[in-house]
Amino acid sequence: MCGIVGFTGARAAAPVLLGGLERLEYRGYDSAGIAVFHDGAIQVEKVSGRIARLREKTEDGALTPGSAGIGHTRWATHGAPTDLNAHPHLSNDGRFAVVHNGIIENYLELRKELIRDGYVFQSETDTETIVHLLEKYYDGDIKTAVMKTAARLEGSYALGIVCTDTPDALYVVREASPLILGVGVEENYFASDVTALVSHTKNVIYLDDGEFAKLTPDSIKVFDCTGCEVKKPVSRVTWSVEAAEKGGYEHFMLKEIMEQPAAVKAALTPRIHDGRVQLDGFELSAEELGGVSKIIITACGSAYYAGCSGRYAIEHLCRVPVQVELASELRYADPMVDEHTLVLVISQSGETADTIAALRECKARGAKVIGIVNVVGSTIAKLSDHVLYTFAGPEIAVATTKGFTTQLTVLYLFALYLAEKLGRIDADSYAALVKELQHLPRRIQQTIDMNWQLPKLASRYASHSLFFIGRNTDYAVALEGALKMKEISYLHAESYAAGELKHGTIALIEENQPVIAVCCNEALMDKTLSNIVEVKARGAKVLALSCKGNKKIVSQADDVIFIPRVETVFSAALAVVPLQLLAYYAAKEKGCDIDKPKNLAKFCAKGHKTRLIRSPTRLWRYKTLS
Ligand code: GLU
Repeated sequence: MCGIVGFTGARAAAPVLLGGLERLEYRGYDSAGIAVFHDGAIQVEKVSGRIARLREKTEDGALTPGSAGIGHTRWATHGAPTDLNAHPHLSNDGRFAVVHNGIIENYLELRKELIRDGYVFQSETDTETIVHLLEKYYDGDIKTAVMKTAARLEGSYALGIVCTDTPDALYVVREASPLILGVGVEENYFASDVTALVSHTKNVIYLDDGEFAKLTPDSIKVFDCTGCEVKKPVSRVTWSVEAAEKGGYEHFMLKEIMEQPAAVKAALTPRIHDGRVQLDGFELSAEELGGVSKIIITACGSAYYAGCSGRYAIEHLCRVPVQVELASELRYADPMVDEHTLVLVISQSGETADTIAALRECKARGAKVIGIVNVVGSTIAKLSDHVLYTFAGPEIAVATTKGFTTQLTVLYLFALYLAEKLGRIDADSYAALVKELQHLPRRIQQTIDMNWQLPKLASRYASHSLFFIGRNTDYAVALEGALKMKEISYLHAESYAAGELKHGTIALIEENQPVIAVCCNEALMDKTLSNIVEVKARGAKVLALSCKGNKKIVSQADDVIFIPRVETVFSAALAVVPLQLLAYYAAKEKGCDIDKPKNLAKFCAKGHKTRLIRSPTRLWRYKTLS
C-alpha cells in the first residue's frame, strides 16, 4: 500500500513529485523518497517518516534538480520502514530507479536467483528484486527489459521506472495495483490516484492490468503485455483541486463529515427523475430479476457495515434474501454462488484486494456483479457487470465517512429500484420513500447542526473502552460507530446486537462503563430501552442516540444525541453522523493523528490474484495467478 507519482516535462520535477506525494500520503506514510534524473545520473533522496522530512532534506526539492523523476510514499510490507528500505530503489549499475506499489509474492526465489547472479541487495524489500531484474534483462532496449521483468513477477505491482539512457522518459507498469496517467501540455504524469494529478491536469488515461506505458514530455505510448501498442481513451476528471484540499478544516476527516449532505445529494440527484429511481444506464430485465434467488453483498471494513445496513433495506423493501459477507472470508469460502446470485461489491477505492478477489470468485461462478465504488476506472469498476458510482468525491482521510454514507445512499436507491421492479412495493409507499430519500441531504445537515454538544460528550464518554449496542439497522450503525472509534482514537470499542448482551457480554458491564445505545428504530425502541435499563442497573453510563421527540429515552439514558425523525429504513445514514463526530472529537482530545491513524492506510493493495482450483488430490486450493 503506497502512493507513487512521476513527472516529466520542462520544469523542475522534484516540487511536482513532493506535492503529489503529499496528496497521496493517506495511502502510506512510513517513509518516502524521490529519484530525479540530472546531469547524466539519477539522484535518489529518501527518508523514513513523513514527506515533510523529505521536503526538509531536499529543501523543497531544490537540492534535487532535474525535470524527470519518480516518487514514493510507503506503507511497508517487506522490511521495516527504514531509510534503506524506502523507495526508490537503484540498480547496482545506477542505470535504473524503481518505485513500486504492491507486493511481489515470488520475491524470495527471485532474490536468491539474483544474488546467485552477483547482484547486491541494499534493502530487505520485495521491490528491490524488480530493479535488479531490469538491469539483468537490459541490453539497450528498455521496452524488452520491462516486459521480461514483468513476466517474472508474481503478485501486485504498479511500477514507476526511470533509466539514465532515456533521460526524459518514465516507464510505468500496472498489475493489480492502481495507476493513472496524467496528460498535460508538454508535460506528462503518473500517479496512484487522481488526487495527485488534479492540480496539474484533468485529462487522464486509466491503465488496465497487464499494460505498460512510456511517458515523455510530449507523448504517452501504452502497450499490452505482448508489446503491441494500444490506443487508450483520454478521460476527463470532474474533481476539483479544492475538493482534494482541506478547505479550512483542521482535518480532512472533519471536512469530509461536513461534506456529507452534498455528497449524498450528488449520489441521489442524477438517479431520481420524476419521482422514480433510475440507475445509471442499466436496466435489469424482469426475466433477469425473476431468476435471482438471492443477493450477496460483499465488502471489507466500513463498506461491509454499509452492506449490513443495506441488507435490512433490501430485505425489507424487496423481500429477497440477502447475505452480507466479509470479502476476506468469502474469497476463501468456496462460496455458494451461481448464475442466480446477484452480487453487490462495495469499496470506496474500488481497489480493495480482498474485495476484488471475492468479486472474481463470484464472477467465475456465474454471478452477475454490481460494483458500488467511488473511484472511476478502478479495478472493481472495470470487473463489474454494472457500476454504481457513489460520487463522494475524493476521500482523503483514512477513516471513511462520506464514502460510507454515499454507499448507504446507493444501497437505498438500489433497494427502491429493485422493490419496484419486482413489484414488491405499492405506488404510494414507493412515492413516499423516494421523497424521503430526497430529504436525506437536508436531514444530514440538520443532524450535524443539532449536535454541537458532541465535543463535550466525547470527553465524557471516550475515557476508556466503550460498548456500542443496537438492533437491526441500529446494530449496523453501532458496528460502524465502534469501528470509527477504534480506527482513529485507538480506544477499545466493541459493538453488540443489543439482544445479545444478556448472553454473555453483560458480564463486562461495571460501574461507569460507557455504553453508546443506538435506538433510532421506532419499532424496536422498547426492546433497546430494556437493554439500556439492564446495563444501567449494573452501573453503566449510557449515551443514547435516537430520533427527535423520543421522550422515553430521555428518562432512561444519561445523555442523548438526537437525529431528525426519519423513515427507519434510511435512519442509518443520519445516525452514523454523530458517531463519526464522536470518534473525531475523542481522537482529537487524545491528540491522535486523525487523518492518518497508525497502522492503517486507505486501501489494501495486497492484490493477491488467486483462483480456486482443484488440486490433484482433489482438494480445493488457491493458486496465485501470475
Ligand atoms: N512491498 C513494497 C515494500 O514493502 C511496497 C509497499 C507499498 O506498496 O508501499 O516496500
